[in-house]
Amino acid sequence: MKIDFNAMPDEQGYFGEYGGQIIPPELKAIMDDIDRAYEEVRQTPEFQEELASLHADYVGRPSPLFHARRLSEQLGGAQIFLKREDLNHTGAHKINHCLGEALLAKYMGKTKVLAETGAGQHGVALATACSLVGIECEIHMGEIDIAKEHPNVTKMKILGCKLVPVSRGTRTLKDAVDSAFEEYLKDPQNFFYAIGSVVGPHPFPKMVRDFQSIVGKEARAQFLEKQGRLPDIIMACVGGGSNAIGLFTEFLPDEDVRIIGVEPAGKGLDTPDHAATLTKGSKGAIHGFKCYNLQDEEGNPLAVYSIASGLDYPGVGPQHCYLKDMERVEYVTADDQECLDAFINLSRTEGIIPALESAHAVAYACKLAKEMSPEQSILVNLSGRGDKDADFVADKLGL
Ligand SMILES: *Cc1c(COP(=O)(O)O)cnc(C)c1O
Repeated sequence: MKIDFNAMPDEQGYFGEYGGQIIPPELKAIMDDIDRAYEEVRQTPEFQEELASLHADYVGRPSPLFHARRLSEQLGGAQIFLKREDLNHTGAHKINHCLGEALLAKYMGKTKVLAETGAGQHGVALATACSLVGIECEIHMGEIDIAKEHPNVTKMKILGCKLVPVSRGTRTLKDAVDSAFEEYLKDPQNFFYAIGSVVGPHPFPKMVRDFQSIVGKEARAQFLEKQGRLPDIIMACVGGGSNAIGLFTEFLPDEDVRIIGVEPAGKGLDTPDHAATLTKGSKGAIHGFKCYNLQDEEGNPLAVYSIASGLDYPGVGPQHCYLKDMERVEYVTADDQECLDAFINLSRTEGIIPALESAHAVAYACKLAKEMSPEQSILVNLSGRGDKDADFVADKLGL
């Protein structure tokens, strides 16, 4: 049976049995409003032109497709190509959807954009987009994270967003979500909650996917132009799943292209310290939608872990859950050590320091490449740059 992936999600926001809007009726009305506004505005040439011109002149798109020749030679197998989202303004793919969300909020006449942030990557990308678009921005962040993530905290302050320290509970991401959401509920008519991945209630998984799909559109055309054919395998790391779905979407109808998502195995899949949601999770609800979850017996999210803080989310985008069940995408894992090895190896063979998140995908690509022939190829989404991780890794390895 041929599946029309473009027809997804359905009107209620479902990808198969996943996604939807598991939220109170008042909020459902607001989400439906956002969906209507989004569907309306995205059809207009003005919005498309504005986004296209910001992609080109602000983000620096198209991001290059780079043939990692020295790395490929070292592995002695498949050719590795890197989609260089690390070269985007602000250093990762997140700017792609933050720009889209900030523009939509402005178009809808919202007065304030709100979000939580963990390590601060989403916060910085969103604060950047809001400065550019000219809309107020408020970011909630746990006190522990604020102490740990000094450079991102400084950037958010410079960018002029209101940074709200969260001192309750865990004083980390989990309570920052609750705090930001409480603020949002004070006036959801006028506030816009900018979700940082392809998660949350409908229409966010669809909208964020659409904003990220530029990655795969460019990569597919670039690869065809360079190589005259499609890659054998494409690969990306999966936290919430936005950079992965951004790369995958354009390739879903290409049946000969194998698609692989790489989850963080942390300290090992047999320990509690991982965030391999699709690999080890079970079905349930989290943050307003249904997906695979890492949860306890009562359905509460588990405290998950990865060396890459951008990957430690106990849920995952509903479309990934569907693609797993359909067996269109394979989901595998790379652990902390494999990630660190790939981080150093890519830095030293190609002079590219990857984000620890992206290094998970690089790690698995290297492992697989060794079993393949030099005529074959793997395209990896290099979702971000590793400047933010450099001190941490150097410390850890005693460099
Ligand atoms: C946030 C982040 C991720 C994880 O988010 P996804 O939604 O899974 O893409 C991956 N890579 C980088 C560089 C990030 O900043």
